[in-house]
Amino acid sequence: MTELDEDIRASCFSHLEILWAEFGDDIPYVGGLNRGFPFRGHRIPFLNYQKGIYRASVQRGPAALSINTSYRSPYADEATEEGFLYAYRAGAIDQPDNRALRAAHRLQVPVVYFIGTRPGWYRPVFPCFLTGDDATTRFVVVTPGAMVGPLDEQEPVRVEDPIEQRYVVRETKVRLHQARFRGRVLPAYLSQCAICRLKEGRLLDAAHIIGDLQAAGQASVSNGLSLCSIHHRAFDQHLVGISPEYKVHVSGRLLDDDDGPMLDLLKGFHEANIHVPSRRAWRPDRERLAERFDRFTEAAA
Ligand SMILES: [Zn+2]
Repeated sequence: MTELDEDIRASCFSHLEILWAEFGDDIPYVGGLNRGFPFRGHRIPFLNYQKGIYRASVQRGPAALSINTSYRSPYADEATEEGFLYAYRAGAIDQPDNRALRAAHRLQVPVVYFIGTRPGWYRPVFPCFLTGDDATTRFVVVTPGAMVGPLDEQEPVRVEDPIEQRYVVRETKVRLHQARFRGRVLPAYLSQCAICRLKEGRLLDAAHIIGDLQAAGQASVSNGLSLCSIHHRAFDQHLVGISPEYKVHVSGRLLDDDDGPMLDLLKGFHEANIHVPSRRAWRPDRERLAERFDRFTEAAA
């Protein structure tokens, strides 16, 4: 890796951290990523969302700086224990973008993987290393690495231990799943809590009806509920249940308790109807709700 390119990558990473501080884990393209990052008097784009594979024109080395995937891509099906599969661009194996992609594998340079989590928003995963390249199936394997060293001079490194590597891949997949789930569930509920209608994005979660780690746990909107932090927590703790008829049930423990206005707020929704998305396919799945509601009634007993 040329020293110039090494500096460009370091600058790219540190400016992504600045954007993280501003926006949180997911960064909008417009007003965020499209500003690019400054480098020696240039303003360098972070990514090319149309092409996917991106190498900055100021780079001297041949390897890509970043790759990206749109939120529509079924990436989850294309992940292995070693990392995410990323397809070559259509056309010749040695067309410029594929050359840049494959050079990133050959030279083992750290790249950023921008993964779309909802329309117009990306989650940057970096440093990533391309740990595999198969010209026959036209896929590379993208594996998250780690930043190590003192805070002001962190170095991107590969995670060599296979167990640790699998852990990092799995953790990244779970976080992406959450982000994409949220990106689908909240808009379906017009970014309001299904119980109290609170409309403040930063206080809203996409709650799973049937948890992630269970076989039936899917990232579909109908397995989700948009809930404010309080109602999410109460739902997870079985203090609030939602029946398959879309009715709120507050646990007897809370109903019998008498302790201040916040509790009244929780109790006040007892037997109220939840607000569901207008589109039928997005509404909470009644079978899953029934399964979950059984657990609520068991916990209350
Ligand atoms: Zn709420």
